[in-house]
Amino acid sequence: LLIASGLSKRFGGQTLFEGLDLQLRRGELLALLGESGSGKSTLLNGLAALEPLDEGRVLLDGQDLLALDEGGQAALRRERLGFVFQAFHVLPHLTVRDNVGLPLLLQGRPDAARVDEMLAAVGLSDRARHLPRELSGGQLQRVAIARALVHRPSLVLADEPTGNLDPRHADQVMQLLRQQLQQQGAACLLVTHSAHAASLADRRLRLEGGQLVDA
Ligand code: ATP
Ligand code: MG
Repeated sequence: LLIASGLSKRFGGQTLFEGLDLQLRRGELLALLGESGSGKSTLLNGLAALEPLDEGRVLLDGQDLLALDEGGQAALRRERLGFVFQAFHVLPHLTVRDNVGLPLLLQGRPDAARVDEMLAAVGLSDRARHLPRELSGGQLQRVAIARALVHRPSLVLADEPTGNLDPRHADQVMQLLRQQLQQQGAACLLVTHSAHAASLADRRLRLEGGQLVDA
């Protein structure tokens, strides 16, 4: 599903990572570990072409993502990708319901029933009409997760999606991801500091000294 090769990123004179290869199969849940500052978020953003890489190729469903122009990248992202940002990036002036429904709206196929289903799945049905500023950190995180999955993406890139959640809600999110992978044949790359979340993955990699090693 995802074949990334030769990924390199430098800031100024400093190399963050170099020559990284990464592959994800359908249905696979891969945990990405690594110390704070090791480059996990930068790698995730690079895979989604949200941030430029210095070198590398990213094939998503056989399509060369980085070779597309910006419009093509945006279209592929809208259709195929679910992204959970480390800082959530929910839109402050939209209600919870409208934030979650946004990916469907952008694809011209709004679906209120699907939005309700996702809100229920993350336990936020009673917050549908609220604005983000009226939510707790963990609730915002669940809004971001519902939004990343609502359009049934084939690749989910999630940057610490359980970082702000108590064990019960963290498990709920992990189950939801797993369910998505099983139902859609999707794949998920999950950045996490949680040993428990990592233990639920099929495979674990650690970003260390600019290289990916088995963890
Ligand atoms: P955390 O676990 O804390 O989220 P991370 O592994 O996600 O950490 P990144 O956010 O990828 O780490 O950052 C990796 C390194 O790259 C950090 O040292 C950061 O300061 C640096 N960095 C990130 N973005 C930039 C930028 N635009 N310019 C310069 N340096 C940057
Ligand atoms: Mg990060």
